[in-house]
Amino acid sequence: MADESVSEEYVHPSDWSLFRRVAPYMLRHAIYFAVAIILAPVSASLAVAQPYLIKVALDDYIAVGDLAGTRNIALMFLGAVLLSWVTEAIYLYVLSVGSMRTITDLRVAVYRHTIRLSTSFFDKQPKGRLLTRVTSDIEALGETLTAGAVTIVLDVLNVTGVLVAMLLLNAELTLVMLLMTPVIVLVVEVLRRILRKLYLEIRTALTELNAFTAERINGLEIVQLYGDEARSSGMYRSRLVRYRDATIRTNVYDAALYAIIDGLSSITIALMLWYGSGGVAEGVFTAGLLAAFIEYIRRLYRPIQEFSAKVAVFQRATTAMQKIFGLMDVDERISAGEEAAPAEVGRIQARDLKFAYGDGPEILKGISFDLAPGEVVALVGRTGSGKTTIGRVLTRTYQGYSGSVTVGGVELNRLDPRDVRGMIGTVLQDVQLFPGTVRFNLTMGRQIADSVVEEAIRLANAEEVVARLGGLDGTVVHRGGNVSVGESQLLSFARTLLYDAPVVIMDEATANVDTLTEAKIQAATEALLSRKTVLVIAHRLSTIVGADRIYVLDSGQVLESGTHQQLIDRGGAYAALFAQQFAEQH
Ligand code: ATP
Ligand code: MG
Repeated sequence: MADESVSEEYVHPSDWSLFRRVAPYMLRHAIYFAVAIILAPVSASLAVAQPYLIKVALDDYIAVGDLAGTRNIALMFLGAVLLSWVTEAIYLYVLSVGSMRTITDLRVAVYRHTIRLSTSFFDKQPKGRLLTRVTSDIEALGETLTAGAVTIVLDVLNVTGVLVAMLLLNAELTLVMLLMTPVIVLVVEVLRRILRKLYLEIRTALTELNAFTAERINGLEIVQLYGDEARSSGMYRSRLVRYRDATIRTNVYDAALYAIIDGLSSITIALMLWYGSGGVAEGVFTAGLLAAFIEYIRRLYRPIQEFSAKVAVFQRATTAMQKIFGLMDVDERISAGEEAAPAEVGRIQARDLKFAYGDGPEILKGISFDLAPGEVVALVGRTGSGKTTIGRVLTRTYQGYSGSVTVGGVELNRLDPRDVRGMIGTVLQDVQLFPGTVRFNLTMGRQIADSVVEEAIRLANAEEVVARLGGLDGTVVHRGGNVSVGESQLLSFARTLLYDAPVVIMDEATANVDTLTEAKIQAATEALLSRKTVLVIAHRLSTIVGADRIYVLDSGQVLESGTHQQLIDRGGAYAALFAQQFAEQH
């Protein structure tokens, strides 16, 4: 993964290799780029022809008073101007269409890639940064393809064409003009280096600003509850100041470059007039030749003036490409398994299961449990004891366990994650709702008959919530803002009932809800428990009184197991936990 602060040494040599990686995406839309490549030289030659036509008009027709000939040349000049406009317009059009199509493909590729990455990858990534990657980084790349790369091809052709035309017309005058070259190269190179650094600074400042804004807006409620608005605004401001100052400095250097090149262009023209007028007097040069040269010099300097803007675009694009392809190179996916999904899926066996997140400490320290088809098995234990982690290992959300877990007799890590998730559904501890309709949130976009959806809503006791939201087509606001914690749980039960995985891991939410909702959740849970094979991670022990087996966990180990009655009789950790909860409630 490329770092945010990409050093200049790293940017430079890899520019081309980066562009090579965009090439396959461009090739799919080769027709647009091909048309552009054909049109570019046409447009450039038409542009280069114009000053030459001025020379011909002045020297061959106006000088000898040939009015008809002058008119013809004027018409040809007009024709060249119009044609070069038209070709340039078509050129820019096909290039921008080609680029937009390329960018769209690339965007889809980045999204498809990202969405398949393992959850463990996202643990390490601030979400704001990933968002920047899929949105503005690709945008920056699109800008280069259209604005930057495109016009640079035309610029190079124009500059070459102008130089060739000048040399052919008069080598001596061209050499005089070229005397200014070292000065220009020096100025452009010095300013280019400064600008390159500044543009990098702007990008880094902007990324930081975006990440900061995203984080604070995400946690807005906390910021406000803790009265952190003023301090947060101050922090925002200091980040903004960094961005502002870099932008101001860039503008200064940019204007300086523009002005200096403007000055140099005028000096060159003056030099040309001074040197050339002597030649005209001696009859070595014609007035038309001088006029053509002055026009050529103007055309030569224009691209140099716009150069810094293009440096900016390229700078943005190369940094953006490094980040995009850095992300594309991440292959943190759950390995696909070689075994086909087993027929009997309700049977899960864990033996001496050990697991750690990445290089972290061991969270599961040798756990064994069984789940048979139709059973309800419960995991209980203190917060942080590893219950949610067991669910994650079982759904292959995280990989890299040791010991053994089999599903229907097949070792879990030999199964495809998609097969696993088809067999094992999950009700997560934090319910995630998406902004959209109730129907979408329950079906996740799958085609399911309304009657089936309504039945699931009824079983999940979510009729009231759904009615309040306006039925199946009612909307759920961003992050479930118009739905309470308890209500979103009921919706998530309905969602799970609709997802026809035979096994469900239910990570009960810890949040407290009112007694009425509690009763509804209880009923919905029972509906779920009676229909599926369930591994329930229980926080309310009342849920699991009827479970076939209960495993009591503590810091990644099984302390005791048995039915509710057996564990109560045993008088161990479970009995203590139960007595405590019972006392709290009554
Ligand atoms: P609770 O009852 O509060 O839901 P839990 O039993 O579900 O707790 P887990 O979420 O499984 O607990 O967490 C067990 C341990 O694993 C904790 O110490 C936690 O800090 C750690 N842990 C959880 N998720 C991650 C993660 N993504 N990366 C690293 N460590 C994690
Ligand atoms: Mg948990």
